[in-house]
Amino acid sequence: MNARILIVDDDSALLDALPEALRLRMADLDVETCDSAPDALGRIAVEDYDAIVTDIKMPGMDGLALLDEIQKLRPETPTLLITGHGEHDLAVQALRRGAYDYIQKPIDRDYFVASLNRAIEKRELARRIELQRLELERHSHVLEHVGDGVFVLDRQSVVQFWNLAAEQITGIGLEQAVGTRARDLLGGWDEVAPSIPVAGAGRPKRQLARMLPFEVAGRELWLSLCGVDVADATVYSFQDRTDERVVDKLKDDFVATASHELRTPLSAIYGAAQTLRRTDVLDDDGVDRLIGIIATESERLARVIEDILFASHLDSGRLRLASERVDVGMLVHEVVDSMELQLENGVTLQVETSTDVLPGVDADPTKLRRVLLNLLENAIKYSPEGGPVVLRMAAENGRLRLHVHDQGLGIPRGEQERIFEKFYRADPNLARGVGGTGLGLYICRELVQRMGGDIEVESEPGRGSTFTVELPTARLAVARSA
Ligand code: ADP
Repeated sequence: MNARILIVDDDSALLDALPEALRLRMADLDVETCDSAPDALGRIAVEDYDAIVTDIKMPGMDGLALLDEIQKLRPETPTLLITGHGEHDLAVQALRRGAYDYIQKPIDRDYFVASLNRAIEKRELARRIELQRLELERHSHVLEHVGDGVFVLDRQSVVQFWNLAAEQITGIGLEQAVGTRARDLLGGWDEVAPSIPVAGAGRPKRQLARMLPFEVAGRELWLSLCGVDVADATVYSFQDRTDERVVDKLKDDFVATASHELRTPLSAIYGAAQTLRRTDVLDDDGVDRLIGIIATESERLARVIEDILFASHLDSGRLRLASERVDVGMLVHEVVDSMELQLENGVTLQVETSTDVLPGVDADPTKLRRVLLNLLENAIKYSPEGGPVVLRMAAENGRLRLHVHDQGLGIPRGEQERIFEKFYRADPNLARGVGGTGLGLYICRELVQRMGGDIEVESEPGRGSTFTVELPTARLAVARSA
């Protein structure tokens, strides 16, 4: 595109001669002329010229006044002033007021052309810089607001940039992040960083992100991230995949548990059935024993499947709980009576009540029975050396508490919260030889919480555990009418 300049002069001879002289010496130039400062201002208001040349002495508004107006209107446009011979002071004034250069009469055309060329180049450069600035601003705006977390590390791995998504995903604010080393923000950075795919010089231009773990503020974050090397820094972008990782882990746990817990009873059933065929070596007692195994293991199989289905039902939100007045004392005795037959390995079962009259609770009796059965079964299951299992009932401050206490294996402190997670088993390798799905306590906590209560554990490894179910007692007015 041609450069466009405006020449302002009241001397019509000069206005005719100058454009011609310029066109001869400068290619790609559009020259416009005008013979008064007010006229020039009107044009400058609508046209963004690459340079303006004005005589300093004009009737009415002179060149200096015009220069002042141009400075206000188009501060970026270089303005050259034509001064009379010997008007050195005026020329200095013009330069002080922001003129780009001055040309003395009589005009030295070579000097004039050279100065005008520089002025046009300066304007062009300023335009390009402005465009680049806008471009950079647009990029940084995009980086700031993209959905992916973005951060930039210098060669010392110190954070130089940290966008909004990075803040939201990690919970680490911009002020804390910028100027801090990556290793002090993302725990495990030093170990994990070499595995992050980074594109750049000598490497592929694009890299597929990798899912890697970091510790941030005490929690594990799984980030899918990759980077790209730029001049003296690396730009990383990442997405939070922690939830997917949890789901993946759950799936793995589910497959491991389901395959183990289904295969074990199945093998026992299969073995017993195969042996039953051997009529030649079996007496009646042997047959009875094998049929007993088939019955018990089938029941175990059915319970595993039932647990899995029940947990999935709970998660789907389709499970509706009944709410009716429950006499917990009676419920507890029913459950304990049904358990008596299952006691093994020298485990004994006792019920203790701190008061004669227990307040009722509004709950779902079937589900509450399921919770108590599960806790008692665990207490027995995890007391391989035998010992008393005590179910104690107490009521205070509008809460009913059911404690199931055993003197069994106990639970390490670090596991005590996790045992309520889905599929979590404190001893997944069965070093203690007891099977289970890891769903029991998850189901218990979900059910109790949906009945308005809570469940917790206190335990000491090697000395036993106490699980406490706490439920709100029924309100008095309702209790009287019951
Ligand atoms: P499961 O018994 O099927 O493994 P649960 O959800 O009932 O699943 O229990 C989760 C884990 O908590 C168990 O694997 C066990 O390690 C631990 N646990 C539960 N109850 C007890 C208990 N009374 N004593 C010791 N450990 C227990």
